[in-house]
Formats: sequence, structure tokens, C-alpha cells
Amino acid sequence: MRELERETVGFYSRKEVLRIAICAKCGLPKELCVCETIAKEAQKVRVYVIQRRFGKYMTIIKGIDTAKIDVRELLKKLKSKLACGGTYKNEEIELQGDHRSRIRSILVGEGFPESIIEID
Ligand SMILES: [Zn+2]
Repeated sequence: MRELERETVGFYSRKEVLRIAICAKCGLPKELCVCETIAKEAQKVRVYVIQRRFGKYMTIIKGIDTAKIDVRELLKKLKSKLACGGTYKNEEIELQGDHRSRIRSILVGEGFPESIIEID
């Protein structure tokens, strides 16, 4: 943080530097930083439904870049918005039930571009 502060002093007054949050990846102020947006655009997110034991449906979400996106936080939001159970394992989000009709708008609401979401 000290290093970043020193670098940006040339562009902002000391007072401003103190209240601007700086992105650790690109060094830009958070309001200009697009690191997370880029991370979300770089991948394809695939959604499909499988049938488990006893005929139960599961919605599977694959292709979330877990190195860049907080998948546990995303899972928490999905579970709460869809009012269902779910887990994250083997690089996949599993949600109980068939949520294909609502998942796209929820993912778009979380910042994923519509163009990268593929729903089977
Ligand atoms: Zn950044």
C-alpha cells in the first residue's frame, strides 16, 4: 500500500490519495479498475441440468474462474436468490432444482456479461 501511495502521489494530492482505494492488481483507483470485469468476460459460463438419484434435478454451473471470482460469495447469493440449497465442488456450482429460467438474469445481475452465459 505504501508503494502504491507513493506512485499515485504524482496524480493526486496527498489528501485524495488517503481516501482513494487502489486496486492491488492494476494500481488504478477502484472506480477506474476493470480487473474483475475482465475476469468475468474472459470465461464461458455453462449452465445445464442433470437428474440425480430419486429423480431430483440439479442445476450445474461450470466455468467460473475461481482464481478471480469469489465463488463462495456467488454461491451464497445464488442460493438466497433462488431459495434453494447448493454446494461448490469439483470446480462446479451445484444448485438443487432446475433454475434455468432464472439463472441468466441473476448471473447478469452479478456482473457476468450475457454473451458468455450458455444455458443448455
Ligand atoms: Zn484493477
